[in-house]
Amino acid sequence: MLLIAHGGAGGRSPSKTALKKIREALKTGYSILVGKGSALTAVIETIAVLEDSGLFNAGTGANLQLDGIRRLDAAVMEGARCEAGSVIGLEGYRNPIRAAGIVMESPHKILTNIGARVLASAYDLTPMPDLDEKSIERLKRLKAGEHELVELFKKHFSTVGAAAIDRDGDLAAGSSTGGVALMLPGRVGDTPIIGAGVYADNASGAVACTGRGEDIIRAALAKEVAMRMCYSPPAAAARASLRKILSIGGEAGLIAVKRTGTFAIMHTTANMAGGYANGKEIVVKEGFTIVK
Ligand code: ASP
Repeated sequence: MLLIAHGGAGGRSPSKTALKKIREALKTGYSILVGKGSALTAVIETIAVLEDSGLFNAGTGANLQLDGIRRLDAAVMEGARCEAGSVIGLEGYRNPIRAAGIVMESPHKILTNIGARVLASAYDLTPMPDLDEKSIERLKRLKAGEHELVELFKKHFSTVGAAAIDRDGDLAAGSSTGGVALMLPGRVGDTPIIGAGVYADNASGAVACTGRGEDIIRAALAKEVAMRMCYSPPAAAARASLRKILSIGGEAGLIAVKRTGTFAIMHTTANMAGGYANGKEIVVKEGFTIVK
Protein backbone atom coordinates (compact mmCIF):
# COMPACT_ATOMS: atom_id res chain seq x y z
CA MET A 1 0.00 0.00 0.00
CA LEU A 2 1.19 3.49 -0.76
CA LEU A 3 -0.14 7.01 -0.41
CA ILE A 4 1.42 10.12 -1.98
CA ALA A 5 0.24 13.66 -1.33
CA HIS A 6 1.38 17.09 -2.48
CA GLY A 7 0.70 20.71 -1.66
CA GLY A 8 1.53 22.19 -5.05
CA ALA A 9 4.48 23.00 -7.23
CA GLY A 10 6.00 26.35 -6.40
CA GLY A 11 8.74 28.89 -6.62
CA ARG A 12 9.31 29.31 -2.91
CA SER A 13 9.85 27.02 0.07
CA PRO A 14 6.65 25.86 1.72
CA SER A 15 6.13 26.77 5.37
CA LYS A 16 6.85 24.30 8.16
CA THR A 17 3.15 24.38 9.01
CA ALA A 18 2.26 23.36 5.45
CA LEU A 19 4.71 20.44 5.57
CA LYS A 20 3.30 19.38 8.95
CA LYS A 21 -0.18 19.44 7.50
CA ILE A 22 0.87 17.23 4.58
CA ARG A 23 2.26 14.73 7.11
CA GLU A 24 -1.03 14.82 9.00
CA ALA A 25 -2.97 14.30 5.76
CA LEU A 26 -0.74 11.33 4.86
CA LYS A 27 -1.32 9.82 8.31
CA THR A 28 -5.08 10.19 7.94
CA GLY A 29 -5.11 8.72 4.44
CA TYR A 30 -2.73 5.88 5.20
CA SER A 31 -4.76 4.80 8.25
CA ILE A 32 -7.71 4.40 5.86
CA LEU A 33 -5.64 2.07 3.67
CA VAL A 34 -4.55 0.11 6.76
CA GLY A 35 -8.20 -0.19 7.80
CA LYS A 36 -8.94 -1.85 4.44
CA GLY A 37 -10.34 1.36 2.95
CA SER A 38 -10.07 1.89 -0.79
CA ALA A 39 -7.45 3.98 -2.56
CA LEU A 40 -10.31 6.26 -3.62
CA THR A 41 -11.42 6.92 -0.02
CA ALA A 42 -7.83 7.46 1.09
CA VAL A 43 -7.26 9.99 -1.69
CA ILE A 44 -10.47 11.89 -0.91
CA GLU A 45 -9.83 12.03 2.84
CA THR A 46 -6.18 13.02 2.42
CA ILE A 47 -7.19 15.89 0.16
CA ALA A 48 -10.03 16.92 2.49
CA VAL A 49 -7.51 17.43 5.33
CA LEU A 50 -5.52 19.76 3.08
CA GLU A 51 -8.66 21.58 1.87
CA ASP A 52 -9.76 22.17 5.47
CA SER A 53 -6.39 23.56 6.57
CA GLY A 54 -6.56 26.92 4.81
CA LEU A 55 -2.82 26.55 4.11
CA PHE A 56 -3.05 25.64 0.44
CA ASN A 57 -4.71 26.92 -2.69
CA ALA A 58 -7.68 24.61 -2.18
CA GLY A 59 -10.78 24.50 0.02
CA THR A 60 -10.79 27.27 2.63
CA GLY A 61 -7.41 28.63 1.47
CA ALA A 62 -8.36 28.85 -2.21
CA ASN A 63 -7.41 31.75 -4.47
CA LEU A 64 -10.13 34.25 -5.26
CA GLN A 65 -11.29 34.89 -8.80
CA LEU A 66 -11.11 38.53 -9.91
CA ASP A 67 -14.64 39.23 -8.67
CA GLY A 68 -13.60 38.16 -5.15
CA ILE A 69 -15.33 34.77 -5.18
CA ARG A 70 -13.79 31.37 -4.47
CA ARG A 71 -14.88 28.93 -7.18
CA LEU A 72 -13.35 25.57 -6.55
CA ASP A 73 -12.40 22.78 -8.92
CA ALA A 74 -11.63 19.15 -8.05
CA ALA A 75 -11.51 15.72 -9.64
CA VAL A 76 -11.04 12.11 -8.61
CA MET A 77 -10.46 9.00 -10.65
CA GLU A 78 -10.36 5.37 -9.69
CA GLY A 79 -8.16 2.89 -11.51
CA ALA A 80 -10.12 -0.35 -11.13
CA ARG A 81 -13.25 0.83 -12.95
CA CYS A 82 -11.72 3.83 -14.74
CA GLU A 83 -14.46 5.85 -13.07
CA ALA A 84 -14.05 9.58 -12.70
CA GLY A 85 -15.90 12.54 -11.21
CA SER A 86 -15.26 16.23 -11.23
CA VAL A 87 -16.71 19.56 -10.18
CA ILE A 88 -15.97 22.92 -11.74
CA GLY A 89 -16.50 26.28 -10.08
CA LEU A 90 -18.15 25.02 -6.90
CA GLU A 91 -19.11 27.97 -4.70
CA GLY A 92 -19.97 27.96 -1.02
CA TYR A 93 -18.58 24.55 -0.02
CA ARG A 94 -15.17 23.77 1.36
CA ASN A 95 -14.58 20.22 0.09
CA PRO A 96 -14.97 20.04 -3.70
CA ILE A 97 -13.07 16.74 -3.59
CA ARG A 98 -16.02 15.16 -1.75
CA ALA A 99 -18.38 16.63 -4.33
CA ALA A 100 -16.24 15.14 -7.11
CA GLY A 101 -16.46 11.74 -5.39
CA ILE A 102 -20.25 12.01 -5.31
CA VAL A 103 -20.39 13.03 -8.99
CA MET A 104 -18.32 9.95 -9.79
CA GLU A 105 -21.08 7.71 -8.46
CA SER A 106 -23.80 9.65 -10.31
CA PRO A 107 -24.76 9.14 -13.96
CA HIS A 108 -22.61 12.20 -14.83
CA LYS A 109 -18.88 12.77 -14.85
CA ILE A 110 -18.59 16.56 -14.56
CA LEU A 111 -20.87 19.05 -12.85
CA THR A 112 -20.32 22.79 -13.03
CA ASN A 113 -21.25 25.62 -10.70
CA ILE A 114 -25.00 25.36 -10.06
CA GLY A 115 -25.25 21.61 -10.52
CA ALA A 116 -22.28 21.05 -8.25
CA ARG A 117 -23.80 23.35 -5.63
CA VAL A 118 -27.17 21.57 -5.67
CA LEU A 119 -25.40 18.25 -5.25
CA ALA A 120 -23.20 19.56 -2.42
CA SER A 121 -26.27 20.84 -0.64
CA ALA A 122 -28.20 17.57 -1.19
CA TYR A 123 -25.32 15.63 0.37
CA ASP A 124 -24.93 18.09 3.26
CA LEU A 125 -21.33 18.94 2.47
CA THR A 126 -19.70 21.43 4.84
CA PRO A 127 -20.24 25.07 3.88
CA MET A 128 -17.29 27.36 3.20
CA PRO A 129 -16.41 29.72 6.06
CA ASP A 130 -16.51 33.46 5.34
CA LEU A 131 -13.53 35.00 3.57
CA ASP A 132 -10.77 36.19 5.85
CA GLU A 133 -9.34 39.69 5.66
CA LYS A 134 -6.00 38.32 4.46
CA SER A 135 -7.45 36.85 1.25
CA ILE A 136 -9.39 40.04 0.46
CA GLU A 137 -6.30 42.15 1.07
CA ARG A 138 -4.17 39.84 -1.11
CA LEU A 139 -6.60 40.10 -4.02
CA LYS A 140 -6.53 43.91 -3.69
CA ARG A 141 -2.73 43.89 -3.85
CA LEU A 142 -2.71 41.51 -6.81
CA LYS A 143 -5.25 43.65 -8.65
CA ALA A 144 -3.15 46.72 -7.96
CA GLY A 145 -0.35 44.88 -9.76
CA GLU A 146 2.00 44.77 -6.78
CA HIS A 147 5.01 43.44 -8.62
CA GLU A 148 6.55 41.09 -6.05
CA LEU A 149 3.25 39.47 -5.17
CA VAL A 150 2.21 39.04 -8.81
CA GLU A 151 5.58 37.44 -9.64
CA LEU A 152 5.32 35.13 -6.63
CA PHE A 153 1.83 34.01 -7.60
CA LYS A 154 2.90 33.41 -11.19
CA LYS A 155 5.31 30.79 -9.91
CA HIS A 156 3.50 29.51 -6.86
CA PHE A 157 0.64 27.12 -7.41
CA SER A 158 -0.10 25.21 -4.19
CA THR A 159 -3.01 23.13 -5.44
CA VAL A 160 -3.31 19.86 -3.51
CA GLY A 161 -3.41 16.28 -4.77
CA ALA A 162 -3.00 12.66 -3.79
CA ALA A 163 -2.58 9.22 -5.32
CA ALA A 164 -2.77 5.80 -3.68
CA ILE A 165 -2.54 2.03 -4.05
CA ASP A 166 -4.78 0.09 -1.70
CA ARG A 167 -4.65 -3.43 -0.26
CA ASP A 168 -6.22 -4.89 -3.42
CA GLY A 169 -3.68 -3.14 -5.63
CA ASP A 170 -6.25 -0.69 -6.96
CA LEU A 171 -5.16 2.84 -7.82
CA ALA A 172 -6.79 6.25 -7.40
CA ALA A 173 -5.79 9.87 -7.87
CA GLY A 174 -7.38 13.21 -7.04
CA SER A 175 -6.73 16.91 -7.06
CA SER A 176 -8.36 20.05 -5.66
CA THR A 177 -7.68 23.71 -6.39
CA GLY A 178 -8.74 27.31 -6.17
CA GLY A 179 -7.18 28.00 -9.59
CA VAL A 180 -4.52 30.62 -10.27
CA ALA A 181 -4.08 34.23 -9.20
CA LEU A 182 -5.76 37.04 -11.15
CA MET A 183 -8.06 34.70 -13.04
CA LEU A 184 -11.18 35.92 -14.75
CA PRO A 185 -14.43 34.70 -13.20
CA GLY A 186 -15.24 31.38 -14.83
CA ARG A 187 -11.65 30.45 -15.63
CA VAL A 188 -11.08 26.67 -15.48
CA GLY A 189 -7.65 25.05 -15.11
CA ASP A 190 -6.43 21.48 -15.47
CA THR A 191 -7.52 20.16 -12.08
CA PRO A 192 -11.12 19.19 -12.93
CA ILE A 193 -10.27 18.04 -16.46
CA ILE A 194 -9.89 14.28 -16.48
CA GLY A 195 -6.73 13.40 -18.36
CA ALA A 196 -5.20 16.84 -17.77
CA GLY A 197 -4.98 17.32 -13.99
CA VAL A 198 -5.91 13.80 -12.91
CA TYR A 199 -5.90 10.31 -14.37
CA ALA A 200 -6.04 6.77 -12.97
CA ASP A 201 -6.21 3.39 -14.64
CA ASN A 202 -4.93 0.21 -13.01
CA ALA A 203 -3.51 -0.78 -16.39
CA SER A 204 -1.21 2.24 -16.59
CA GLY A 205 -1.01 4.23 -13.37
CA ALA A 206 -2.40 7.10 -11.31
CA VAL A 207 -1.33 10.71 -11.76
CA ALA A 208 -2.19 14.08 -10.18
CA CYS A 209 -0.74 17.35 -11.49
CA THR A 210 -0.17 20.90 -10.30
CA GLY A 211 1.12 23.99 -12.06
CA ARG A 212 -0.17 26.39 -14.69
CA GLY A 213 -3.39 24.70 -15.73
CA GLU A 214 -3.49 26.31 -19.16
CA ASP A 215 -0.25 24.49 -20.11
CA ILE A 216 -1.18 21.23 -18.39
CA ILE A 217 -4.43 21.11 -20.37
CA ARG A 218 -2.55 21.66 -23.66
CA ALA A 219 -0.30 18.70 -22.86
CA ALA A 220 -3.10 16.49 -21.43
CA LEU A 221 -0.39 15.88 -18.87
CA ALA A 222 -1.93 13.30 -16.53
CA LYS A 223 -2.96 11.00 -19.38
CA GLU A 224 0.37 11.59 -21.12
CA VAL A 225 2.25 10.40 -18.02
CA ALA A 226 -0.12 7.45 -17.54
CA MET A 227 0.31 6.31 -21.15
CA ARG A 228 4.07 6.53 -20.85
CA MET A 229 3.85 4.44 -17.66
CA CYS A 230 2.51 1.53 -19.75
CA TYR A 231 6.05 1.14 -21.07
CA SER A 232 8.32 3.03 -18.64
CA PRO A 233 8.82 3.44 -14.90
CA PRO A 234 7.05 6.46 -13.32
CA ALA A 235 10.27 8.49 -13.09
CA ALA A 236 11.02 8.17 -16.81
CA ALA A 237 7.37 8.82 -17.73
CA ALA A 238 7.19 11.91 -15.51
CA ARG A 239 10.50 13.30 -16.74
CA ALA A 240 9.63 12.97 -20.44
CA SER A 241 6.19 14.50 -19.92
CA LEU A 242 7.48 17.42 -17.85
CA ARG A 243 10.09 18.11 -20.53
CA LYS A 244 7.18 18.43 -22.93
CA ILE A 245 5.58 20.96 -20.55
CA LEU A 246 8.82 22.94 -20.47
CA SER A 247 9.03 22.84 -24.27
CA ILE A 248 5.64 24.56 -24.54
CA GLY A 249 6.61 27.20 -21.99
CA GLY A 250 4.77 25.64 -19.05
CA GLU A 251 5.53 24.94 -15.42
CA ALA A 252 4.19 21.95 -13.55
CA GLY A 253 4.70 19.26 -10.98
CA LEU A 254 3.16 15.85 -10.59
CA ILE A 255 2.87 12.68 -8.59
CA ALA A 256 2.69 9.38 -10.48
CA VAL A 257 2.38 5.81 -9.27
CA LYS A 258 2.11 2.38 -10.83
CA ARG A 259 0.43 -0.70 -9.40
CA THR A 260 3.85 -2.22 -8.81
CA GLY A 261 4.45 0.43 -6.13
CA THR A 262 7.04 2.42 -8.06
CA PHE A 263 6.32 6.14 -8.04
CA ALA A 264 7.67 9.59 -8.87
CA ILE A 265 7.28 13.09 -7.46
CA MET A 266 8.72 15.57 -9.97
CA HIS A 267 8.45 19.22 -10.81
CA THR A 268 9.83 21.89 -13.09
CA THR A 269 9.51 24.48 -10.31
CA ALA A 270 12.05 25.06 -7.52
CA ASN A 271 9.85 23.38 -4.91
CA MET A 272 6.98 21.01 -4.56
CA ALA A 273 5.77 20.31 -1.05
CA GLY A 274 4.77 16.69 -0.75
CA GLY A 275 5.47 13.28 0.61
CA TYR A 276 4.50 9.66 0.83
CA ALA A 277 3.54 6.99 3.35
CA ASN A 278 4.30 3.35 2.69
CA GLY A 279 3.75 1.61 6.03
CA LYS A 280 7.41 1.82 6.97
CA GLU A 281 7.81 5.57 7.01
CA ILE A 282 6.21 8.89 6.22
CA VAL A 283 8.52 11.13 4.23
CA VAL A 284 7.63 14.79 3.69
CA LYS A 285 9.88 17.24 1.87
CA GLU A 286 9.76 20.71 0.36
CA GLY A 287 10.89 19.44 -3.01
CA PHE A 288 11.71 16.29 -4.94
CA THR A 289 13.24 15.76 -8.39
CA ILE A 290 13.49 18.91 -10.48
CA VAL A 291 13.19 18.52 -14.25
CA LYS A 292 15.03 21.06 -16.38
N1 ASP B 1 -3.19 23.66 -11.68
C1 ASP B 1 -3.99 24.64 -10.97
C2 ASP B 1 -4.79 25.45 -11.96
O1 ASP B 1 -4.26 25.83 -12.99
C3 ASP B 1 -3.15 25.57 -10.15
C4 ASP B 1 -2.23 24.90 -9.16
O2 ASP B 1 -1.63 23.86 -9.45
O3 ASP B 1 -2.10 25.44 -8.05
O4 ASP B 1 -5.92 25.75 -11.69
